[in-house]
Amino acid sequence: MSTEKINTPMEAPQVIIIGSGPTGISAAVQLIRSGISVMVIAKKMKETYLNANLIENLITFPDGITGPDFHKVLRQCVAKYNIPILNEEVILIQQDDAGFYIRTNHLTFQAPYVIVATGTKPKSLNIPGEDLAVSESRLLYNIPAIKPEGKDIVILGSGDATYDYALNLHQTGNKIKIIQRTLRSKSLSLLQTRVSRLSNIEVLRNYEVTHITLQDQKLSIDCQVEQSQNPISISCDLIFVAIGREPNTSFLEESLLNALNSNESIKNLYYGGDVVNKEYRQIALAMGDGVRIAMEIAEKIS
Ligand SMILES: Cc1cc2nc3c(=O)[nH]c(=O)nc-3n(C[C@H](O)[C@H](O)[C@H](O)COP(=O)(O)OP(=O)(O)OC[C@H]3O[C@@H](n4cnc5c(N)ncnc54)[C@H](O)[C@@H]3O)c2cc1C
Repeated sequence: MSTEKINTPMEAPQVIIIGSGPTGISAAVQLIRSGISVMVIAKKMKETYLNANLIENLITFPDGITGPDFHKVLRQCVAKYNIPILNEEVILIQQDDAGFYIRTNHLTFQAPYVIVATGTKPKSLNIPGEDLAVSESRLLYNIPAIKPEGKDIVILGSGDATYDYALNLHQTGNKIKIIQRTLRSKSLSLLQTRVSRLSNIEVLRNYEVTHITLQDQKLSIDCQVEQSQNPISISCDLIFVAIGREPNTSFLEESLLNALNSNESIKNLYYGGDVVNKEYRQIALAMGDGVRIAMEIAEKIS
């Protein structure tokens, strides 16, 4: 273990929670109510729900709530419970006999209990031209805080997030093409029906995107279309990629990552929410995970 100085903000917390989404905040509230000290470390404004057009399956919001409005509610909980949040990226978690060491770019912390609630990150396409389009801010994976207006937008993918992005971006007068590799969409039929009713959203099926070109500020997407010999090109102003998500675990030291991947539990290290919920990525499940983990820790500490 490095001899680097360990930071102990205020008093050293009993539990460090990584992530300030519904999992992390639910755990923090429950722990604080049990009289247990916590500290949350989280990258700023990276919660997955910020992309959500309308969250309709939380029974506490019968009229639905947008992702950004849901964020405001969570921040009210943070303020009410005085939850300490450090906005930094965790780059390493290590374990030794003394407990867990959590390293950010600037600081190192130690805690006997750690909750990993880091959610997921979008998958990339891994095709030529993607990196250049990203570097020029012409290809995005998340909905930006200020939405584009009046643009020709292509959204790649076929799941709930793809259709949710289309409904979201349509609201600011954009013309949208959804390009999906398969004939069938994986999205909820409710979202597909809403999309089908909007004249400025078109769905192109059985299109395999092979290449992205950015030349003279013009963005062009090459696609191989089933049953056609020749590739076709689609031009647009912006591309959004919503082809799936993968767990945010790159900061785990190798032994911890191996344990996670082989379902081996590590004493006093907990995972909850999207980071471990595979295809069941939902806010209600994330909040439930947070509360359950907090209750387990409270029982151990007491
Ligand atoms: C378009 C879209 C629509 C959706 N609609 C719905 C819906 O209608 N209903 C529903 O229930 N769910 C919906 N979801 C899913 C929902 O957003 C997630 O289930 C939920 O956000 C998961 O919560 P979480 O706390 O596990 O992770 P997140 O909310 O993703 O939070 C992860 C936290 O970890 C932090 N983090 C990650 N890596 C690090 C690191 N290395 N260091 C420090 N901090 C880190 C992030 O900054 C963030 O604070 C939608 C998702 C998308 C993409």
